[in-house]
Amino acid sequence: MEPLTHLFKCTVCHEYTLEEDRCPRCGGSVASPYPAKFSLQDKYGEYRRRAKRKLRMSAD
Ligand SMILES: [Zn+2]
Repeated sequence: MEPLTHLFKCTVCHEYTLEEDRCPRCGGSVASPYPAKFSLQDKYGEYRRRAKRKLRMSAD
């Protein structure tokens, strides 16, 4: 369930597009708005670490 996996964003006009070569609107180059798929996992990882730390603190 990753509907945004193939979504790109124009670096020029910031229009979202499914084209991975160039923006259909202005012809500018496109880039993934989510450069790192990892960032989401990182966020969850950090959240988990934080939660763990909190848990440990309350346990002490
Ligand atoms: Zn564009």
